[in-house]
Amino acid sequence: MTVLITRFAPSPTGRLHKGHAFSALTAWSAADTTGGRFLLRIEDIDPTRCRPEFDAGVLEDLVWLGLDWESPVRRQSEHLSDYATVIDTLDRRGLLYRCFRTRKEILDAIGNAPHGAAEAVRPGPHPPEEEAALLAEGRAFAWRLSLDRAREALGDRAWQALAFVEEGEGPDGERGLIRARPGTAGDVVVARKDAGTAYHVAVTHDDARQGVTHVIRGQDLFEATHIQVLLQALMGWPTPVYRHHRLVTGPDGRRYAKRDGSVTLAHLRSQGLSPAALRAELGF
Ligand code: GLU
Repeated sequence: MTVLITRFAPSPTGRLHKGHAFSALTAWSAADTTGGRFLLRIEDIDPTRCRPEFDAGVLEDLVWLGLDWESPVRRQSEHLSDYATVIDTLDRRGLLYRCFRTRKEILDAIGNAPHGAAEAVRPGPHPPEEEAALLAEGRAFAWRLSLDRAREALGDRAWQALAFVEEGEGPDGERGLIRARPGTAGDVVVARKDAGTAYHVAVTHDDARQGVTHVIRGQDLFEATHIQVLLQALMGWPTPVYRHHRLVTGPDGRRYAKRDGSVTLAHLRSQGLSPAALRAELGF
């Protein structure tokens, strides 16, 4: 029988809150109750928002919660060359294009686009002369994955067959075998100007590399699955089973946010909340 391998993969851009605790407990319990493996992965590729004290805070909070995980913890910032190799592979196959546009230019284009956002997040390659000039000026660029070229590379049949198994529930109750719609995200950025990689590449690479069989995470990442399934197909990586779980909300019905210091586990702990009480509150 295959062993369930799952992970909790927070980004250390703030302290963990109850929503993270629910996610970590859901994944940890799935491994614990089936004799599976639970991995902790620190997704710290964003050099501007990730901080070492938040990384330390993740470990502190999860230990407090009573969780354990395998060593070593994978930190994405230590594996940037792995992601660069993936980007190079996609580029050599002609699936990427350079995008020098600023966020503002992209947003303006969305505002002006005749068919709305979906069209504008596919800005397309710059004309060759413009690209050469921008490169010569030393301007920073992101790499985008061309949906058109990806579809061509896979072929129509494989494109139509892109799918994943949802054992949890998407935000609209989606479950079972779900056909992937990678087109809705546009030509996603696979390497950011500042980080040399981007979330979708790092996460799919690591899930494959770490042999993750079940991705257990919040419904806020359900839509991301559609593009991640495409990357898995392009790279020949297996598609894990997905279990998206409900998002925990506060008394006001709103999702917890990292920027709200009053809901962090660190703060609640300082107010005397016990891990047992929190586990019980979250249904564990
Ligand atoms: N690092 C992502 C986040 O904190 C989660 C990635 C994932 O579970 O796929 O939102």
